Amino acid sequence: MADVARRNVAVFGSTGSIGTATLEVLKQLGFPYNVWGLTAHSQQDLLRKQILEFQPARAVLTDSSQLPLDTFADLGASAGNRTVISHGQAALEELASDPNVDIVVAGIVGSAGLPSSLAAARAGKTLALANKESLVVAGPLMLDAVKKNGARLLPIDSEHSAVFQALESGKSLDQVRRIVLTASGGSLRDMPIEKLANATVEEALNHPTWNMGRKITVDSATMMNKSLEIIEARWLFNIEPEKISVVIHPQSMIHSMVEFIDGSVIAQLSPPDMRLPIQYALTYPNRMDGPARRVDWSTPVQLDWKPADLERYPALRLGYEVAKAGGTAGAVLNGANEAAVELFLAGHIRFTEIEKVCRIVLENHTFDPSPNLDDLLSLDCWSRAEVLRWKQLEC
Ligand code: NAD
Ligand code: MG
Repeated sequence: MADVARRNVAVFGSTGSIGTATLEVLKQLGFPYNVWGLTAHSQQDLLRKQILEFQPARAVLTDSSQLPLDTFADLGASAGNRTVISHGQAALEELASDPNVDIVVAGIVGSAGLPSSLAAARAGKTLALANKESLVVAGPLMLDAVKKNGARLLPIDSEHSAVFQALESGKSLDQVRRIVLTASGGSLRDMPIEKLANATVEEALNHPTWNMGRKITVDSATMMNKSLEIIEARWLFNIEPEKISVVIHPQSMIHSMVEFIDGSVIAQLSPPDMRLPIQYALTYPNRMDGPARRVDWSTPVQLDWKPADLERYPALRLGYEVAKAGGTAGAVLNGANEAAVELFLAGHIRFTEIEKVCRIVLENHTFDPSPNLDDLLSLDCWSRAEVLRWKQLEC
């Protein structure tokens, strides 16, 4: 048998929904995949368990309130002192560019994931990207870094993984008529529109088909998640926003589709299970047996889709507007949304105010068509502060 090189994987956000699913996949795949690094923000206990189980070379805990470092001294010893543990945001970028790392799985939530995604791209890694916010905030900078440094960017977001797979049916982008992103409709899809303003946090977090982190679950209910995905697709596939459609597909079995100019539509189907797109990004271009759920062909299945209703989901308009505008618009929309979702989860604003405040902040910002990274990072802070300012004025 030919020698197979070991593939060292660093899992960013290993304690989250994507991170834990990635570790399940890696466990099942086994050699040549090797868990080289793990990172978590504040879930120290779960990180400890993961260190003991996977014995990575490096682990990072980013939340400084989780200090002191010596809480891990016993752990280092029990893991045979194999794991070097560090703290803080800078340690994330160091791990992402560690020469021993082959694949970076970007599973941090929010724009907090951007610096490490960018560091991985600059270091020429294979970047398996779940953190869509990296592309929403800094799409052109990310793509430029990937290109200049010979990195490989593979999507984990299920819609983008589906589009990525479907695109292999055509020869070039000019043969694509449109990309059709599917959306479950989120947790509040059946709630009468007039009741949405009073939707509770618990109701918004009760997703019908996917089990995900809290932020993306709220994004899914407002449809801001699809807006972020329109922007993500715009940069990832270099496609005009006019060629991106969104349909509501309640079963979450068709993960997205590509319509070619001859009228053929190629879809990717599988039960809703993130372990499949994660695994595909890890094994690409190969396909391997893995832990993801399979279609049960002995059970009748119905697949429906319908156009998205912009009255129910006004956030969807923001996605198209921002994808068309480019420049600083993505950073502002993303920062405002992250802050607004936090306020909603803390019970400080209504569900329908998330979209409302995002639009206000977006319209109040001074647009720049070609910002640099520092501009984007300061706008990320500015837009969060603007959301808080708006809340104080309103209340
Ligand atoms: P999650 O909340 O379950 O996990 C987030 C992870 O990020 C945790 O490990 C946490 O410790 C870490 N983290 C949080 N804040 C951090 C910070 N400031 N600095 C460093 N690390 C931090 O989130 P998730 O649902 O796994 O989503 C992760 C990313 O994947 C998001 O960008 C989301 O949009 C995307 N995504 C998720 C799913 C899904 O099924 N969960 C599907 C598609 C895309
Ligand atoms: Mg998605």
